[in-house]
Amino acid sequence: MDFKELAGLIEINSHTANKAGVDETGQVIACWMQALGYKTDRHVRETIGDHLLFSSPKCPGRKLLLLGHLDTVFPKGEFEHFREDEQWIYGPGVCDMKGGIYVALSALRAIHKEQGVVHNIDMLLVSDEETGSDDSKFLTTTLAEQYDACLVFEAAGKNNEVVTARKGVGTVYLELTGKAAHAGNQYLQGRNANLAAAHLLIALTALTDLDKGTTVNVGKITGGIGANTISPNAQLAVEFRFTCVPERDRVLSSIDRLASSPAVDGVTITVSGGVQRDVMESSQPQQALLEEIEAILGYPLPTEHRGGVSDANTITAAGVPALDGFGPFGDGDHTHSERACKTSFSQRIDQVTRILHHFCGRSE
Ligand SMILES: [Zn+2]
Repeated sequence: MDFKELAGLIEINSHTANKAGVDETGQVIACWMQALGYKTDRHVRETIGDHLLFSSPKCPGRKLLLLGHLDTVFPKGEFEHFREDEQWIYGPGVCDMKGGIYVALSALRAIHKEQGVVHNIDMLLVSDEETGSDDSKFLTTTLAEQYDACLVFEAAGKNNEVVTARKGVGTVYLELTGKAAHAGNQYLQGRNANLAAAHLLIALTALTDLDKGTTVNVGKITGGIGANTISPNAQLAVEFRFTCVPERDRVLSSIDRLASSPAVDGVTITVSGGVQRDVMESSQPQQALLEEIEAILGYPLPTEHRGGVSDANTITAAGVPALDGFGPFGDGDHTHSERACKTSFSQRIDQVTRILHHFCGRSE
């Protein structure tokens, strides 16, 4: 297949912080979608790119959402330009996830060409996935109730896997306040926030439960003034990941418990932050969706669980059965060696076309 159009998309820098570039990327896609009969709803944002919802005409039957993101992790000048060799295409977003959007678009075009119309299949492209969807997650959650199922277009697994589960992730900041004192003259008057932080670090790390897939990482620790002062303050930045809701709740309540009982008398701890993206768990409706898709394709789809998060977490937490990984296979995402396998495009486009064909305007 020909990658000219996708190359054009890749050549537009759409780092999350580059609003103009993200909007330009969205505009190119909007033109393509409008040619297929789609209406564009622009959710305008001031400091980040606009989120775009493309809506098709509706008829009775189930409604499907295709979900993706316009942004990439690469600031201007850091990793730019499209190139290709026999087997691979290279560039920012070739697999994460302009390549995935291109798979979805190509499938919609195939249906439009055959039927003259696409209905009941909408596409939402958000602008801030790579920074945690802190803004778009509210939009995604609000729109969720309109849909019966969702396909997400992050990159496929090595063997064409789709993703059925992703860990949830939370980020918490702990601010410890003690009392400064001269380390020689007034040692006993001080309240050492650094010492309390050290105890806290160990206790937080101990919340990790690898058997359950729960990890707690104190990724950053700061505190104190200098060697001769009892430290009056310290800060911990903590990330935790979890595979189920009870584990999420265990970690959250444990953090609160630890924060309310510092190991050093006179030190106080405040907590901010929380769950950034909820867990994407396998569910019965998701399993039914997978089986339905396998029946359409006539063969089983390999599946996998991933540690990393995507907007599939958000839409799943909002109650919509979702499968992720419908983009092409690629690797090196978030690095300068990001690449996508050429042959996986035609394979995924064919699969997605058949799936969408089945959903397009069909009643139960
Ligand atoms: Zn992505």
